[in-house]
Amino acid sequence: MGIEVYVFDCDGTIIDSGEDIADCVNAALKHFGYWEVDTRELISFTGNGAKALMLRALARSTKNHFNLETEYNKNQFEEIYKYYVELYNSNPVVKTHLYAGIKELLRVLKKKGKKVVLFTNKPIKIAAHIFEKLGILEYFDLMIGPETRTSDGRAVELKPLPDGLYFAMEELNKKSGTPFTNKNFVMIGDSDVDIIAGKNFGCMTVGCRGGIADKEKMLSQNPDLSFSVASEIEKFIDILSQDKCDDFIKNFAMKNEVPIMQDEGSDFICDYIKSNGVKSVLEIGTAIGYSSVRFAKLSPDIRVTTIEIDEDRYNAAVKNVEQNGLSQRVTLIFGDALSEKISGEFDLIFIDAAKAQYTKFFEKYKHNLSASGVIITDNLSFHGMVEDLSLTNNYSTKKLVKKIRKYIEFLKSNEEFETEFLKKGDGISISKRRKA
Ligand code: SAM
Repeated sequence: MGIEVYVFDCDGTIIDSGEDIADCVNAALKHFGYWEVDTRELISFTGNGAKALMLRALARSTKNHFNLETEYNKNQFEEIYKYYVELYNSNPVVKTHLYAGIKELLRVLKKKGKKVVLFTNKPIKIAAHIFEKLGILEYFDLMIGPETRTSDGRAVELKPLPDGLYFAMEELNKKSGTPFTNKNFVMIGDSDVDIIAGKNFGCMTVGCRGGIADKEKMLSQNPDLSFSVASEIEKFIDILSQDKCDDFIKNFAMKNEVPIMQDEGSDFICDYIKSNGVKSVLEIGTAIGYSSVRFAKLSPDIRVTTIEIDEDRYNAAVKNVEQNGLSQRVTLIFGDALSEKISGEFDLIFIDAAKAQYTKFFEKYKHNLSASGVIITDNLSFHGMVEDLSLTNNYSTKKLVKKIRKYIEFLKSNEEFETEFLKKGDGISISKRRKA
């Protein structure tokens, strides 16, 4: 049993809540006659609980003149803190939104039978309220925070202590009857305290570099993996489920955040190749050669030609193909697929490169398709965002999603090709030439 329990931090990992928190801190400072503090600076103070945040904000606002050494300051601090908490609790979802791909990640985790836990230093009541508003509360099996008590009434210690993770293990073992150990857990968070808690517990740790906490401090704790956003882990759920992954390519992909095809989609293409006697494949977008090696390994008479624009990935692919003894049958091309000139015909053309260019790739390479060949395209669901654009708030992601939708329309209305759309992996299409 590999990784079965996904434990998430809240702010900076699941939700981008920095601005709402900072706005309320500044409103509290202003209300009590203190100078406001720069929003970005305030956001970087988060991660250790609201009291620590407010204390740092007061110190910054007064150029380090505020401390808790006098009775007056202690009382004043309690009042400001109370004001902040009340204000934030009544306005926690003004600018707060989910990070890109989070909803889809949670949906996939539940579909694959994984346990999903929240371990936060934020009051669970507030986290649950925000999650409900953002439509993700139903995905959590367990939420652990400052209000959590053990069966003997003891408060669960917060991060960086690993108490909450031990608590989660006990609770899940009781509820599910599965004897989970720390080796079945992954702790995912954007701050150093998340990584320290995971390491203290002895589980795998994943750092999110694009969160709201101090990225350098988080990375200095050496998480096992780091991604820009938590949802990047979706591609690796199947690999992480394995007891031990000895596959060099998959490990490399995971460490270097290289996109590779999801197993379900890749398995589908492999089955297609086998059952349709495909002998030649042209792949647009090699990455580090995961799919091309898989395709070529299916049978000694299969040949793969694959194009990659990124030099480092191309070099890694060359190495992987060599290590698998496939250099005679996998032709790797370093270049831009939009300008390369490829001769010959292929039984299967697999489009898996820049999504915004799908239509151009299709129009260019259809001339290389054999008479009964097919063009397969991946990522047509784009983590569920093609069906539900509200899953992202990111402007450029929305733009990309709209381009994928346009490509789907292009396929649907195409007079030369007929296309079947499958809900495999991240959404696949198979296009064949219409019969005359
Ligand atoms: N098919 C690969 C697999 O499953 O192992 C994954 C490919 S990855 C999703 C997409 C790759 O396409 C990236 O490595 C990217 O650098 C490459 N790419 C993007 N635009 C390209 C272009 N115009 N020509 C060639 N490769 C491109």
